[in-house]
Amino acid sequence: MEGVRHALENSCNEARSRRRGVKYLTWCAIFVRRDTCAIRLPLKSDDSTMLETATPDPSNPIAFISFPTPLLRALVIHYRSTMSASDFENVLFNIREFFDKSTAQLLAAQSGAGRAELLHHMMDHELKASASMEVSCRKGCGGCCHYEVEVTQDESELLAEIITNGFSVDLKRLETQATYERQGPEWAKFWSAENRCVFLSAEGSCGIYEDRPSICRKHSVITPASSCTTLGEQVTPVQVPLAEILLSAALSIPGAKHASLSKMVLATLNKTSEHTSKTQTPFLEANEISGL
Ligand code: SF4
Repeated sequence: MEGVRHALENSCNEARSRRRGVKYLTWCAIFVRRDTCAIRLPLKSDDSTMLETATPDPSNPIAFISFPTPLLRALVIHYRSTMSASDFENVLFNIREFFDKSTAQLLAAQSGAGRAELLHHMMDHELKASASMEVSCRKGCGGCCHYEVEVTQDESELLAEIITNGFSVDLKRLETQATYERQGPEWAKFWSAENRCVFLSAEGSCGIYEDRPSICRKHSVITPASSCTTLGEQVTPVQVPLAEILLSAALSIPGAKHASLSKMVLATLNKTSEHTSKTQTPFLEANEISGL
């Protein structure tokens, strides 16, 4: 992993030196802190809350990853367009090495809530390396908790377990959100109360912070926190490459599903008969939920 971090850092350092060029400056800015790097990319803010956008690319250099995150895809495209062929090959080699290692670790764990916790532990480890970056996210903001947030199947099992163990959520809102199409018009409604994550507290903080999904862990911005809740403001997410590779490994586990938090959690709850009998809530059947 150190090798991967070193290679990525080197590539960032090289890219940083290119910042002096006008062409490069129009593309992105690079921030290097201590032993890691994070990159600001020109993405839509909602790209960073989605787990993948599978646009087939015949010359895709990371075809070995079934489901790269949108940010990893953007990063690789950036590297390909800014690095020499040999440096790019070197970075690809390191991406693959870290991807394979992460995949093996995840596959060694039992699927379900336990594997979600392992993923969160691994991700926190990678994100810690970038903790010195000055991000503008603050407790109580909750801006990104009004987007369509996607989770893995393992994570949905962890979240459903939390609910069945007594964490109270607005099940009606969960059901309503679960009917939304992926990236559908309902999710595009800005700062809409119906789109609030069911785990977001009235005070605007995450009610399950220790168990929040990977995408919530890795999502941070460097633009002012107020921009996330102001219509029309640009929001700039930060990318930590190793976190993106790790999450891509989790998404690419054979047979693993992913979809919006609401769809996944509701489908998982539906499978839990104990919970259904306790609440008598008319959950949808999993096969009635589009996208699963
Ligand atoms: S799980 Fe927590 S951090 Fe993630 S969207 Fe919901 S409230 Fe926000």
